[in-house]
Parts: sequence; C-alpha cells; structure tokens
Amino acid sequence: MNIVIMVLIFLAGIVIGSFLNVCIYRIPKEESIAKNGSACMSCGAKLTLIDLIPVFSYLVLRGKCRHCKTRFSAQYPIIEAITGVLFLLLYLKFGLNYVIIIYAALIAILIVITLIDYRHMIIPNGLIIAGLVVGVAQLIAAIFTTGIFENWLVYVIGFFAGGLPLLLIALFTTFVLKKEAIGGGDIKLMAFAGLILGWKLLIPAFFIGIVVGAIVSVVLMATKKKKRGDEIPFGPFLCFGILVSIFFGQEIFNWYLGMF
Ligand SMILES: [Zn+2]
Repeated sequence: MNIVIMVLIFLAGIVIGSFLNVCIYRIPKEESIAKNGSACMSCGAKLTLIDLIPVFSYLVLRGKCRHCKTRFSAQYPIIEAITGVLFLLLYLKFGLNYVIIIYAALIAILIVITLIDYRHMIIPNGLIIAGLVVGVAQLIAAIFTTGIFENWLVYVIGFFAGGLPLLLIALFTTFVLKKEAIGGGDIKLMAFAGLILGWKLLIPAFFIGIVVGAIVSVVLMATKKKKRGDEIPFGPFLCFGILVSIFFGQEIFNWYLGMF
C-alpha cells in the first residue's frame, strides 16, 4: 500500500464526488451536467475555483457563500468525502487493478441513484444507461482478457438474474395484486448491477438490499415516521446491498457455499 497512491486516489475521489453533487442536483431538473459553472443558489454569484475545492472550500468558508453568507448544504462535502473514502477502500481491498476502475464507476453511479431516488422517488434512465455502459465495457474486457475478470458468462447471467426476478415480482404485484410495489427503475438498476457484479456477487447484493430495506421499513412504520401504504423508495437499499457486495460479496458467497 503506497501512501502517495492512497492520497492521489482519495483526491480523485473527492473531485469526482464534487461532480456527483452536480449530477444529483441537476439530473432531476433535466439540466446539463456539462455546461455552465456553479452559482450560489441564493445570490447567484458565480462560484470560482476558491469556492469549489472539494471538502476544503466548505471547511475554510464554514459552509457559507463568500458573498451573501447563505449556508450551503452539508450534503456537498459529505458526498465528496464519502466518494473519496470509498475509492480509497477500493484500492485497499483490490490494489491498483483494472477492477477498481469498474467498481469506482459503479459506486459513483450508485451514489447519484441513492440520493435522487431518496428525494424524487425516481431512477433516471440516464443513470441506467451509464451503468450499462460500464457493464458492457467490463464484458468486452472480460471476453478479450484472461485472469482479470471472471468468465464473461458470469456477467451475462448476472444481467438476467438481476432483472428477471424483480420483473416477475413487478408483473405479479401490478397485475395480480393491482399494486405497484417495485418500480421499473429498480429492475433496471439490478439488471445493470448484475451485469457488472456477475451473478455470484449479485445474490448477496439482492439479499442485503431486501433485508435492510425490510428492516428499515418496519422501523419507520413502528416509529410512525411512515404509514402502511406510504411509498418508501427501494433503490437506496438495493444500492446499499450492491455496495456491500462489491467489498464483501465474494466472502459472503464463499461462506454460504461452505455451509453445505
Ligand atoms: Zn450567495
């Protein structure tokens, strides 16, 4: 573990986290994520380089606009720091490897999906497409290289294993129970996650996502924060399951097989 590489990867993470904040804010409003610099939402002052250094600007300026002193959301530095830490953990777990590029891209997409689905109850198709692009890139690499990725079939099966079960549940609940329990976004999310993770890591991802989602839903209803029938976005829980599976899915899979 090289300390210089660790610092560089963390810095890359917080810079990308800063871009993810832009995505989280602009994608639901269908604004371009490439054009236009950022501006203070209160006074409209254009934010310059001093205001936009990830994490540090927020700490130095104490979370306030330099011009009108309006508070910026703490979400910005938190997302940046989380992205930096997760990228660093990827390096500590997998080393400097092609695999961490794929996983870093997946984690970036999961962070944006989690925040947007939590706030707006939607998983925008642009993010699904981004996930598919990452998955297809990995699939091509898996076909043409050896020793880095699993056999490419593992990923193709993962794609269908991710999409089909939720699709069947969705069809059942929609047409038999006349209730929409699972959104189309969740189905597409698990399909591209399966393509990237492969079917072995997809199983723990599914399991963790559903169990944690169920526990949190029960707690929210027990504490009266949500009523029965209230919609609770499921995407964030699935994203959490996928995230845990990136780091521990292989261990969980092996442990499970070892029980027989
Ligand atoms: Zn301002």
